Amino acid sequence: MPDTPIPPPDAGTRPAFDNSYARLPERLFARLAPTPVRAPRLLRLNRALAVELGLDPTWLCSPAGLAMLAGNAMPEGAEPIAQAYAGHQFGHFTPSLGDGRAILLGEVVTPAGARRDIQLKGSGPTPFSRRGDGRAAVGPVLREYLVSEAMAAFGIPTTRALAAVATGEHVLREDALPGAVLARVAASHLRVGTFQYFAARRDSDALRVLADHAIARHDPAAATAANPALVLFEGVVARQAALVARWMLVGFIHGVMNTDNCAISGETIDYGPCAFLDAYHPETVFSSIDHGGRYAFANQPAIAHWNLARLAEALLPLLAAEEEAALDLARAALASFAPAFGAAWRAGLLGKIGIGTAQEGDESLVQDLFARMADQGADFTLTFRRLADAAEGRPEGVRALFADPAAFDGWAEGWQARLAREPGTAAAAMRAVNPAVIPRNHLVEEALAAATERDDLAPFEALLAEIGRPFDERPAGDRFTLPPREEERVRATFCGT
Ligand code: AMP
Ligand code: MG
Repeated sequence: MPDTPIPPPDAGTRPAFDNSYARLPERLFARLAPTPVRAPRLLRLNRALAVELGLDPTWLCSPAGLAMLAGNAMPEGAEPIAQAYAGHQFGHFTPSLGDGRAILLGEVVTPAGARRDIQLKGSGPTPFSRRGDGRAAVGPVLREYLVSEAMAAFGIPTTRALAAVATGEHVLREDALPGAVLARVAASHLRVGTFQYFAARRDSDALRVLADHAIARHDPAAATAANPALVLFEGVVARQAALVARWMLVGFIHGVMNTDNCAISGETIDYGPCAFLDAYHPETVFSSIDHGGRYAFANQPAIAHWNLARLAEALLPLLAAEEEAALDLARAALASFAPAFGAAWRAGLLGKIGIGTAQEGDESLVQDLFARMADQGADFTLTFRRLADAAEGRPEGVRALFADPAAFDGWAEGWQARLAREPGTAAAAMRAVNPAVIPRNHLVEEALAAATERDDLAPFEALLAEIGRPFDERPAGDRFTLPPREEERVRATFCGT
């Protein structure tokens, strides 16, 4: 690029970090700086997010800013740490996981007063790396960038992508791949596994410190409650129930719902082999490592509940002095998961088909639609999106998604009769909740392949722009809205670690 002015080394305003986690007892983390990389190059900066965080995009693009985003130099005020955590991975407990390829630079307080973690992922080995190299490849970094920003555009709680930086180094996976670092933003990086780490060590003091920290960040009202830890736990249950319902309402499969990937904040975290449904089927699995289908689409609420039970176990010493009493409290709080999830899921589904308030028979109407979609290989996203056209008297588009369109007609008769009992027209409200564009697996793969194989970021940029406005109507046949052709279909996704 000729004529691009080179900014001065430290142009603009550096971030003001406030590192409350680094002030907690030393056994909660390891202090270390990221490992510098050879030739950092900014692949993408999320300017809008930077501004929202109160960070100066000019500084972030300056040599000093790039050095921070790459992990090559820490600005004054950063206190980099790798956080300790444990986790149940596919049901098996590992007492020491921790940030093996991530480093928390610090926290910033946004102009709106919210505290946010800034973390680098792929920033080099830490004491928690075990056999890993601490690095990340460009593909998975851009994948997390795309999918987390799509979630944000849907309004679903998620960690965010602040920047992606190429390292100029290769990481060795099955092949040698170009490396990258993701700068990630989170309400916090506290996980169910963070509590499990200290519960496994019978370290009730650390559990209390963690609970207080979590309360300060996520449930400040709990601080003055009679039983703060219980109110914290109830908050996590409510947030996870709402989150998983939101995922499923857009056809999202997280793919690795291990307890270390389950955030106390209620944000979606750790985008690995995640994927969106194309054709609807409840048992869909994309992750290449999920052989038993533990994290299949329809299993997600049961798994979230299971993860929350593990959190409850970890919190027992804080809930009551007597174990029996603590167990009773934990069980009662956990019991609120199913009704909370069910209410969010059912209300969301009714909204997707244009119904405002539930009436008798609505639930079987939805179940019947799902059964027919699964039977007929109907595309999840487009079925709901095109229902809005059908509500306006143009059912051709949605009919065409069913292998046998008569299967749709058989359902639509009852649905139309039900819509007639709704006040007002449903179509606009339906388009506001049913996205036209999702980060479809084949489009994501295409963007990652171009970036990895040809250093061509144009497809990534194009897809990112589209997923930033998911609910806008597109012209018929727009490629970002369409399901994959048979030969484009992605059948497996990989975490790439
Ligand atoms: P994840 O699959 O991202 O949930 O990671 C599970 C655990 O493996 C965490 O403790 C990670 O820090 C660690 N891990 C994953 N990939 C790497 C890597 N390339 N190097 C070191 N640790 C890793
Ligand atoms: Mg993880």
